[in-house]
Formats: sequence, structure tokens, C-alpha cells
Amino acid sequence: MERHPSDRRTGITWPDDQAGTEHPGRAVDRERAAPSAAPPVLLYKGVVVHNGVEHPGRHEPLIDQVTWSTVQDILTSRRNGERSREHDHYLKGTVFCVECGRRLIVQHTRTKAGRVYEYFVCHRSRDTVCPQRKALPIAQVEQRVADLYRTIELNPAQRERIEQIVLVKLHRQQAVNDERLTQIAVEAQTIDANQAKLLEAYYAGAIPRELFLTHQRRLNAEQANLVREKAKMESNNADIRQRLCDALDLLQDAHATYTDAPVTVRKQLNRAIFAGIFLGPDPTQIRAELNEPFASITQPG
Ligand SMILES: [Zn+2]
Repeated sequence: MERHPSDRRTGITWPDDQAGTEHPGRAVDRERAAPSAAPPVLLYKGVVVHNGVEHPGRHEPLIDQVTWSTVQDILTSRRNGERSREHDHYLKGTVFCVECGRRLIVQHTRTKAGRVYEYFVCHRSRDTVCPQRKALPIAQVEQRVADLYRTIELNPAQRERIEQIVLVKLHRQQAVNDERLTQIAVEAQTIDANQAKLLEAYYAGAIPRELFLTHQRRLNAEQANLVREKAKMESNNADIRQRLCDALDLLQDAHATYTDAPVTVRKQLNRAIFAGIFLGPDPTQIRAELNEPFASITQPG
């Protein structure tokens, strides 16, 4: 085995078989063959299993927390066939240490024979904060992330079913929203009437100026709250369906999309879908946290 001269200094454990970094396929075959390497995240199959099951009382918005610009960027760059330009490694910011949750960072090591190998290592392994001290060959990490896409992708039939399920939920939510919007209209009319009465009473000399101003401020504040609430509900309603379709577009045949994509698009896909992918050296040590709405779509109920 070729030793990296700075092993002692960094405290990082390099894999015994460094040559393995040039053959990511081998490591992946091992990973797939291992019976313990269960799919790391519960995904679409869960939706299908849950199809038809009622989830009462879930009327909260499904898709209101996402920054949609990222998704839009991806769809745009896919349409325009954007060329890849690599500055940082595209997994930077997506992969994290399974032990301590810190970022994994790229490190190079040069063997005595002059060959350079790239690894991901835990950001905190240098200062001994994290117990996870093994370096992860970059090619293996790339492959494991690509494999993760197999577990989250949808075929057209699955996409169709999920779209139907989620649209039913959206429809229920729309009904609740409509009810509230009607209520808001009534409340706004009441406030208008009260403002008119208040003004009338003030000009008739029935209430002192201070009391008039106090009531006026209160009514204005209530009115402003209603206007805000109404605007928020209306903008949610307008965007939500399009956002859902965008998310489903990304997930349909996601593995092929991801593996065919240039690294800039891979990076955007990872950022849009995953809040983080947490990895350790063992093939079973992988845990994915999904952003909304992907988490809601994939884990209903
Ligand atoms: Zn760590």
C-alpha cells in the first residue's frame, strides 16, 4: 500500500485500496450485492401503498416553503442544454458527514509514485472533533449519490398516480381556502361598517377624540391583517399547481436525467431535491433528507 506522507498530520485514514478509486464500478457492485444495503429513504412506493387511505385534517399547504428559483433554473438550463463548467466539486454543499453532520470537503492526496487521488473527508476530522476519520473516494461518493436517484425517481405511471393523489389534497385545501376567503369578505364588510359607525359617532360628539383614535387604529390593524391573509392565500393558490408539476417533472426519470446531466445541472438537481445527503464509509451509511415539496410528495400522510 502506498502511504500518504501527511497521514500522521491530518489524522485521516486513507482506504487501503487506493487503486479502487479508479474503478468506482467495483465498489458499487459490492454495495448493490450487499443484502444489508436497503434503500436508504422511503419514497414513492409509499405513496402508491397509501393510495386511497384517508389522512384526515391535513389541510396545510403542501408546497409553500420552497425556493422555486432553483427548480426553475434547472428546467431552464435543461431546455437550453447548458454547458458544464466546473469550479468546485458539484457535490460540495450536498454531502455531509453521517457522524457529525458537518460538510464533507474535497481533499487531494499524492502518493510517492506521484499519483493524485481525490477524497471527501469530514470537515472536522482534521481537528479531531469528529470520530469519522475515513476518507471517502470521490468516485464512490459520486456513484452512491447517483444511485440514490434510483430510489427517488418516478416512471410516468407513478408520476401520474402521485399527481392525482396530490391534486386531490390540493383540491381539499382549495375548498378550505375558499371557505376562509368567504369568511374574510364578511369580516372585511363588518370592519367597514364599524368604521363608518365610529366616524358617525365621533362627528355626532358621542365619543371623545382619544377613544375614537384608539378604536380607529384597532379597526385599521384588523383590516390590514385581513388584506395580508387574503393576498397570501391567493398567491398560494395561484402557484401551487405549477410548482407541483415542476417538482414531478424533476423526479420523472430522475436517475437518467441526473446521470446524463453536466455537473452544473447535477449540482442544481441535488440542491433542489436534497437538504442533505449524509454519508459514511460503509455502503449502508447513507441517509437523505429531502427538501419540500419532494419530502411531502414522497412521504404522504
Ligand atoms: Zn464528521
